[in-house]
Amino acid sequence: MFLAIILHFLLGYIIMKFIETRTNDGIHPNEVTFSQAILSPIASFGGLYVPRELPSLGEPFLSKHLNSSYKELAFDLLTTLDIDIEPSVINEALALYDKFDDPSNPVPVVKVRDDLYVSELYHGPTRAFKDMALQPFGIVLSSIAQKRNEEYLILAATSGDTGPAALETFKNRPNVRVVCLYPDGGTSDVQRLQMVTEDAKNLKVIGIHGDFDDAQSALKKLLGSATFKSTLKSKNISLSAANSVNFGRIIFQIIYHLHSYLELVRQNVIIMGEKVYLDVPSGNFGNALGGYYATKMGLPVEKIIIASNENNVLTRLINTGRYDLRHDKVVSTTSPAMDILISSNVERILCDLFGDIRTKELMEKLENDRFYTLDDDETMKLQAMFSADYCNGSEGKAYIKEAFDGGYLMDPHTATCFKAYDCCATQPLKTIVYSTAEWTKFSPTIANALNGVVDVQDIDALKSISKTANTPIPTMIQGLFSKPIVQDTVIDKENIETEILKFLE
Ligand SMILES: *Cc1c(COP(=O)(O)O)cnc(C)c1O
Repeated sequence: MFLAIILHFLLGYIIMKFIETRTNDGIHPNEVTFSQAILSPIASFGGLYVPRELPSLGEPFLSKHLNSSYKELAFDLLTTLDIDIEPSVINEALALYDKFDDPSNPVPVVKVRDDLYVSELYHGPTRAFKDMALQPFGIVLSSIAQKRNEEYLILAATSGDTGPAALETFKNRPNVRVVCLYPDGGTSDVQRLQMVTEDAKNLKVIGIHGDFDDAQSALKKLLGSATFKSTLKSKNISLSAANSVNFGRIIFQIIYHLHSYLELVRQNVIIMGEKVYLDVPSGNFGNALGGYYATKMGLPVEKIIIASNENNVLTRLINTGRYDLRHDKVVSTTSPAMDILISSNVERILCDLFGDIRTKELMEKLENDRFYTLDDDETMKLQAMFSADYCNGSEGKAYIKEAFDGGYLMDPHTATCFKAYDCCATQPLKTIVYSTAEWTKFSPTIANALNGVVDVQDIDALKSISKTANTPIPTMIQGLFSKPIVQDTVIDKENIETEILKFLE
């Protein structure tokens, strides 16, 4: 083992490197390591970091892991990718999957319809899929900061699930402070309570008058602001982000796509090498991007189906080649974690398919004119990989009811995938639907779908579903309603910077 490590260095083996989506500005480094990309996620011209290359793993890697645990698979993938994180830290990070409901199977894959299998990504501490990546990410980032003896401010913009998961993972961790921005009124009661009851000196939660895109653009602006960074520098604090603009999250979102496929092989649903559809409820496109990278590394995927709600900019992009926000405003839906129009990780796909020069051109066009149009050839390339559809609120509720009548309780984000499946899975292949939240996080919509109740608070909806489905309300959710509210800041978006600086005093 030791010898292997020495050889590794002697032979000058190159660790995983990252390049930029919008070309290089001559100021930022041309390429960075994984830890650099994590600590400073915004690249030249406001771009993002993407892997320079990915290994081709294919069937041998999958076959090798047919009997591996989730953690064994994850460890091998991360070491094969050769990120510059010590194995002991990787192990410590992956150990957080032991906090999931069933440590031996953190991501259960269950059959719901004949060809449709649901991969449940919500069994972590905050009951949504953000835990899949943010739990280990918290350890990785905090350990890099400690090793460098640096203090970090982590910004997180949330539509409701990233916030709780980021607060949970960084709570009381050394060398890290977290500011979490959420749209006031744009989250469920449970999501809000998960944030505003988080009591730790290193955490600050700020509600803003606006929607998620407002929160995210405020965040991106601060991340790119030289003056904000130098103000922080004078306090010896560096700045990073916990959103999926950070590749440190994406890397942990590749693993469960491989795992879910292997689960279908283990359950004798498919044979190794058989193609499947991945069906992903999408907002910022981090989950789908993980599936894209898994496919590039050799996962047998026919297509990645992108499911959206009424904020259907991704459906239109994939079906027409046009990303167009000129006539759009974010609308509030029953699947609020997907109430997003500016979907950050699409940029990484553009870069991979069309290169950095073209991506810079397209992203500038989007920023200046609020739209861009891919040419026919580009659109075809995109469609070779993805198909897409969207699901409105009443369709979603019908799918929730139908699944429940068949014995399966699911949340409204997961429901959008059922619509997309019906529309996009044109070949008789098995489909993996990703379930991104537990029923407890969006209970009023589900109670309405199942029992027709309207205008209920989360707590009453939880009780109603619990009774109908004959399933208990998990204690960590129940407990939220009696916890004291310690984070009560709600401000206009113009005042975010001032408020953050006040917290850092
Ligand atoms: C974040 C989230 C999504 C969207 O995932 P992206 O990776 O941003 O596309 C979907 N559903 C739920 C419940 C989420 O929390």
